[in-house]
Amino acid sequence: MKQKSNGNLSRKSRKELSIKQKVTLWYACMLVLIVLLLFGFIFAISRNILQRQSDSRLEEIVLEFADDIDFEQNSYELDDDIRFYENGVIFSLYDEQGRLTAGSVPTDFPADTILKAYSFQTISSSGNTWSVYDAALPYGDGQILWIRGILQSETLFSVERTMFLVLLIACPLLIAVALLVGYSITRRAFLPISEICRTAETIGAGGDLSARISTERTQGELRQMADTFNEMFQRLETSFEHERQFTSDASHELRTPIAVITSQAEYALLPDATAEEQREGLEVILEQARKMSSLISRLLLLARADNGTQQLSMAPLNLSYTAAEAAEQCRETALRHHITLSCEITPDIIAEGDQDSLTRVFLNLLENAIQYGRPDGFVKLFLEVQDDFAVCSICDNGIGIAPEDLSRIWLRFYRADPSRNPGGSNTGLGLSLVKWIVEAHHGSVSVSSVPGEGSRFTFRIPLRQPS
Ligand code: ADP
Repeated sequence: MKQKSNGNLSRKSRKELSIKQKVTLWYACMLVLIVLLLFGFIFAISRNILQRQSDSRLEEIVLEFADDIDFEQNSYELDDDIRFYENGVIFSLYDEQGRLTAGSVPTDFPADTILKAYSFQTISSSGNTWSVYDAALPYGDGQILWIRGILQSETLFSVERTMFLVLLIACPLLIAVALLVGYSITRRAFLPISEICRTAETIGAGGDLSARISTERTQGELRQMADTFNEMFQRLETSFEHERQFTSDASHELRTPIAVITSQAEYALLPDATAEEQREGLEVILEQARKMSSLISRLLLLARADNGTQQLSMAPLNLSYTAAEAAEQCRETALRHHITLSCEITPDIIAEGDQDSLTRVFLNLLENAIQYGRPDGFVKLFLEVQDDFAVCSICDNGIGIAPEDLSRIWLRFYRADPSRNPGGSNTGLGLSLVKWIVEAHHGSVSVSSVPGEGSRFTFRIPLRQPS
């Protein structure tokens, strides 16, 4: 107990992000990631283009510089107006052995940078980066003059710096906008979910069971979800309504015999009650007590059926014999009602089922057929095998059932015409029990009836129960 409350406490104290916040965060992270990737891509491409532009410019300038050198037999001469610094490029000249003969190199430029004819090199040192282009000019008999052009990569750096600055300013802005927009989109998208939660909370708190989620502005999957919840709420409401009806009917049914028992006992206990009157009173009390006991056992069975604790002892049984026995038990009642009871039973139909429950099914249907039959009428019981099913029909030519009552007679305590059995033993539970028992045997039960002409109840159960 103690542990549990500690667990609750720690769960409460741990602040968890709501789904909305999580979705917003994911959305913002994804957006920032995409923008960063896009930026990186643009940066890489523009850097490449700039690099190429600067290389071709460097090459051009170096080759122009070469034009200012006049070569003779075994020597060369530099023009008077030659400049070793032109358009940001610093020039230096080297002999075949790589010795610097004219011009200069920037401070910090590594002196050991190898000469590579007509190719570009990027050299970095002490935080500086240079683009280098070397031209090898042959002259005389096999001599070579190297011209090296060095360009400080200022332009490239400035582009990188600008992009970094833009990113630095844009990123927090982007995150803020992504969070704001993301949250408002998620909030709108989650509105129906919040409403579902609110409705569920109202119902959960024992509030209005008829509350439903409004689906006016909801579409797609959320509409589907809201519909599913509404259907569930509808079923809950119906089920609660049945439960309430059942409890009120049950207490009503029990109140009547208790009232009779109380009044009979009080009457019998009167000082001037004769022995005969006391005996009559006791008989009534006994009859009411039996009725209550039967009602209670039916209610108990239904309650157990509801919560799945009613056990059926399934075993192979001779259904033909069970049906004939039940008919035999009803013969006297049929006689009393001037009703001819006849049976057409295929012998030795063996089915797997619970003997007591199936006997109850036969008895209930036969008793109803007799009770709602007409004097000098008939009740017929048919039992046969159809495909892998035992099929039983019980027909009468009695009062029949109105079409609007056909679906309701299976409900608990439902009686189409209670006035037909005032104070009698009918509780309106018989058919709900029949339905439950037949379905528990993996079978089905149905009715067809014409008011004033009679009814036919048919149930079918499989001969072998599925394992
Ligand atoms: P009850 O205890 O009232 O017979 P049931 O559940 O067995 O309860 O039947 C429910 C209602 O169905 C009855 O009250 C009656 O109105 C109707 N009913 C059942 N069987 C027949 C029948 N054979 N003919 C006409 N009505 C019937």
